[in-house]
Amino acid sequence: MIDLHLHTTASDGRSTPADLVREAQAAGITTMAVTDHDTTAAWEAVSAEAAARGIACVPGIEITAVEDGRDVHVLGYFFGARRAPDLEAFLDDQRADRRRRLVEIIRRLSAIGVAIDVAALEARQPPGRALGRPLVAAALVEAGYVASIAEAFDRYLSPGRPGFVPRRGASGADVIERIARAGGVASLAHPGKLGDEAVVQRLVAAGLPAIEVHHPDHTPADTARYRALATRADLGVTGGSDYHGPGSGREDGLGRTRLPEADFERLRALAAAPRPT
Ligand code: AMP
Ligand code: ZN
Ligand code: FE
Ligand code: FE
Repeated sequence: MIDLHLHTTASDGRSTPADLVREAQAAGITTMAVTDHDTTAAWEAVSAEAAARGIACVPGIEITAVEDGRDVHVLGYFFGARRAPDLEAFLDDQRADRRRRLVEIIRRLSAIGVAIDVAALEARQPPGRALGRPLVAAALVEAGYVASIAEAFDRYLSPGRPGFVPRRGASGADVIERIARAGGVASLAHPGKLGDEAVVQRLVAAGLPAIEVHHPDHTPADTARYRALATRADLGVTGGSDYHGPGSGREDGLGRTRLPEADFERLRALAAAPRPT
């Protein structure tokens, strides 16, 4: 079973790299990619554990871009073993902006009387970790303001809610190009969650090489629509569970959402083919 969308504690996942590999293997996965948000910090630990367990591992990433004020997640795969300095510098900036955003979210919440402790939150974060809203959501649950992560997003953290801070950042086309320059293959993550087909079309026109067809949040209609788009536009197809670990609310897909073998082989071929620059 192939799963090319998995998170660890290097971003907002709840499984350490070693736990993730163990959990993936228990779920029947034989080929996996770790795709943390805006960080490659888990690459070595995941690939070492995967090698020890006889699991194939592809280094990956999930980068947040911005289109029309909306977050667009772009996956990247098949980077070489060596990190690309330009991409790493870009990811450093992305993580610095995540930190800025989190501080601003906490400031806005405190202005409406919802107090959570930033210092305690930050003190627990190892270097290289990509901070995200799930961290604030967990703190809101812990402090008793809400009963669940989902409620934290619904009441405070989603667009239009009092704690929402719009992101700044690179465009989708810029991120796609950065991934290509670093030797990777970019894929638009969960296009069905975007709710904006114009953005999908724009990125395809900008040279998007692949698209995530298989994702737990995709309806059967989404899956069919993006499969058809991939065929029509000659795009690679990716897929995975977007697993965020036990208790994350995002664990259902593990062992269920998988990428067909033929799509994986095609993606690998795309990665090996010389790309026009
Ligand atoms: P951020 O990286 O700060 O933009 O936070 C986005 C992450 O929060 C996503 O990758 C999900 O893991 C999580 N997330 C977003 N919306 C929700 C939601 N409604 N309920 C639970 N988790 C969510
Ligand atoms: Zn996430
Ligand atoms: Fe995502
Ligand atoms: Fe993800």
